[in-house]
Amino acid sequence: MSKHIVILGAGYGGLLSALTVRKYMSKAEAKVTVVNQYPTHQIITELHRLAAGSISEKAIAMPLAKLFAGKDIDLKIAKVKSFSVDSKQISLSDGSTLSYDALVVGLGSTTAYFGIPGLEQYSMVLKSAEDAKNIHAHIESKIAAYAQSKNPADATILIGGGGLTGVELVGEIADVLPKLTKRYGVDPKEIKLLLVEAGPKILPVLPDHLIQRATASLEARGVQFLTGLPVTNVEGNTVDLKDGQKIVANTFVWTGGVQGNPLVGESGLEVNRGRATVNDFLQSASHKDVFVAGDSAVHFAPDGRPNPPTAQIAWQMGELIGYNLYALLNNKAMESFSPINSGTLASLGRKDGVAIIGGSSTPLKGLPATMMKEASNIRYLTHIKGLFSLAY
Ligand code: NAD
Repeated sequence: MSKHIVILGAGYGGLLSALTVRKYMSKAEAKVTVVNQYPTHQIITELHRLAAGSISEKAIAMPLAKLFAGKDIDLKIAKVKSFSVDSKQISLSDGSTLSYDALVVGLGSTTAYFGIPGLEQYSMVLKSAEDAKNIHAHIESKIAAYAQSKNPADATILIGGGGLTGVELVGEIADVLPKLTKRYGVDPKEIKLLLVEAGPKILPVLPDHLIQRATASLEARGVQFLTGLPVTNVEGNTVDLKDGQKIVANTFVWTGGVQGNPLVGESGLEVNRGRATVNDFLQSASHKDVFVAGDSAVHFAPDGRPNPPTAQIAWQMGELIGYNLYALLNNKAMESFSPINSGTLASLGRKDGVAIIGGSSTPLKGLPATMMKEASNIRYLTHIKGLFSLAY
């Protein structure tokens, strides 16, 4: 009898689960329904480029209908309002409900605000193409405003958080500022581009010599770093730092971290710090008919450490889940998750980057790192048959 597989979310984990399960199960064997809040699959590793205006939306937000064409996948564009893994009920923003024989949860993560007063209310985030477009429009409007007002707050752009998201964003903004300021007759030297990081250094996942390289590259393009200084409070356009200094910035983007999606915590799944605990088959530790992919899941590597919430992990999880859905529903042996770590690639704008590659963490900088990042994107697009996005 035909089974119903429901996949919540069409990010890296959800999309790859859907595409992969269709390699093993026909329409007669399983109905596959994918629910996503946007009609597009978004390449969130490239959002910083959209936020800076150096790429078009179509290049990083691909229509799901196109990616799923001919695959017999039912697509529902709606927000998941809630889901219960005990009653197997999913309720959607359009008022409809769904039930399932097997569920995949790939709902990603949300921004972490760590209870810092005013932070959520007064900051922008970079989690979706929509967020990225808002950031770009906002930056441009403030530069236009500064041309008239000469108010230093209009000319101050502050990024909160010096992880990969914050650093890639600041690098991309630094690259587009000369062109953007010229458009409004503003001297680029009058724009303050600041990044504040609580820890002693930016990009703590990289070795010190690459951190120094990244810092020097970005400082040469006008970025000022404030390290060892947590944001403690935000009120309107005023951001307080731990040492008492106040930064008045009319553009403030928060990239200070991610946390589990609250829907996962409320679903009845066993969670660890808000992310669903999964076994080596990527099944929920508490509900064997539920698989969890990407940032919604926490999978512990053999050394006991959780795999990081990255695109490469989510992609590999999705593929394995696609196969394991087939195995579970056909009483076959499931396969274990043993991800390949291809390294960490950080772009520092259009022409520079730093990276560590492969299991041996070979360091790369400059053009080779930039090219590796491009290659990794093309490899992913090829895999999902999304190369058409490069036409934009
Ligand atoms: P993150 O958690 O890696 O970095 C957030 C940074 O914000 C940290 O350095 C933290 O110290 C800082 N921070 C926290 N509280 C602060 C405060 N009060 N004031 C100032 N700074 C504060 O988050 P991210 O950069 O969004 O990355 C999330 C995940 O996504 C990571 O696993 C990362 O590896 C991955 N990612 C990867 C890439 C890539 O591979 N190129 C790009 C983006 C994100």
